[in-house]
Amino acid sequence: MSRAPTPIDFRANSRGVPPTMAAAVQKATTKFLGTRATLVEAVGNDRWQALRQAGHEVRLHAITHLDHYLAQAERAVTDAGGHVHWARDAEEACRIVLDVCAQRGVKLAVKSKSMASEEIGLNRAMEAAGIRVLETDLGEYIVQLKSMGPAHIVVPAFHLSKEEIAALFQEKLGVGAPAEAEKLTHVARLKLREEFLSADLGISGGNFLVAETGTIVMVTNEGNGRMCTTVPPVHVAIVGIDKVVPDWESLAVLLKLLARSATGQKITCYTSFIGGPPRRAAETGPQEMHLVLLDNGRSRILGCPETRETLLCIRCGACLNICPVFNTVGGYAYGYPISGPTGSIFATQILGGQAAGGLPFASTLCGACNDICPVKIPITDILLHLRHRVVEGDEQEAAAAPYVLRLAAQAGSAALATTWFYRMGSQMLKRLQAPFVREGWMSKLPGPLSRWTMGRPFPAFGADFRGWWRRRAGR
Ligand code: SF4
Repeated sequence: MSRAPTPIDFRANSRGVPPTMAAAVQKATTKFLGTRATLVEAVGNDRWQALRQAGHEVRLHAITHLDHYLAQAERAVTDAGGHVHWARDAEEACRIVLDVCAQRGVKLAVKSKSMASEEIGLNRAMEAAGIRVLETDLGEYIVQLKSMGPAHIVVPAFHLSKEEIAALFQEKLGVGAPAEAEKLTHVARLKLREEFLSADLGISGGNFLVAETGTIVMVTNEGNGRMCTTVPPVHVAIVGIDKVVPDWESLAVLLKLLARSATGQKITCYTSFIGGPPRRAAETGPQEMHLVLLDNGRSRILGCPETRETLLCIRCGACLNICPVFNTVGGYAYGYPISGPTGSIFATQILGGQAAGGLPFASTLCGACNDICPVKIPITDILLHLRHRVVEGDEQEAAAAPYVLRLAAQAGSAALATTWFYRMGSQMLKRLQAPFVREGWMSKLPGPLSRWTMGRPFPAFGADFRGWWRRRAGR
């Protein structure tokens, strides 16, 4: 039986964020947003909006016909000589990979960046089984050396400076290198090359799975993905069931959106198409290919009309880069490998409200994520729906909101619906807030209300709204 996930305390995690984090995160996200904006401008707003709409439609079509396209993809992968496994949850997915490892006597696995493998905690499971797993994406390699997870879904070590990475290499690898990107990359490349050659297994994710041909598509900027999927004798790809796309035409739309939104590139350095083990004598590559199709709660999300568009996500990271909350606290505060707005809506549904009920509240609902999302996911609508579910404590999300919050929400709702209650409540509020008001602003509110004023003052409740409304109406 699966263990209950550890609850995520977003507020406590945020308090633990080092003061240098926000500056490092903002420096990186400003750069990504700048390069993205330049490319979007070059496309032209009308064409970009049309492309977003096409991306939305392609993804929506794929997830609403998921059963059909997954069955088609399974047939195509099997026909190409690959093995397809279905994993209901994280535990089953890890067990499938461990079974492959046991059959092949795997001692060392090299891994390219895969958020699905982070989601299922694959490294921990493999290490517990005595198998060494080495991350080979440069950012993932760095955070693994630091015994941490990714801080961003696209650029896992983006919060670390070159100086910090140089010191880390010195400490963990015993190699001194100047704090220059090229020199540090060279150190990692030399270390990793030996490991690629001796690995028994390569693990990858997949940005997309093309149903018509069963092709796994990997979008990267480093050659490590190709090394992981071609050098070791066995390749295992872990792909969420939501990653399926009908055909190459649909893929072309999404590739245009993904690279521009993620890293501000027209196309990434490597876009790899993996079509199964070699079929002709002249072909090289792993003799065995396994595709693990991961559900892990995705079917449940699909069953909810209000939140199913969560599954449209192509993990570009743009909503993280634009989010004011993410820019203040960074990725680790979310306590989940997929962070930011997309992580909040995904994790809450995957882990449930008991474990992740705080995440939908980690948002200002400013809507910047909706506007930037290349596949037009209504993120704030989903966040609001999840807040409602958390507060109501429905059977999926389980009650995670404190009693006092529910009581306050009910009181607020009654006050707004009843004139005399509203009038009386506003008079009471004006009196109660008096000790905390300075020049029209409230600061340092007591007890649980202190959260509102922890980072900034709050406008005092004092305006005579009803009077203002009457005056405005000329009555
Ligand atoms: S929700 Fe949209 S913007 Fe955010 S990562 Fe997914 S596709 Fe990108």
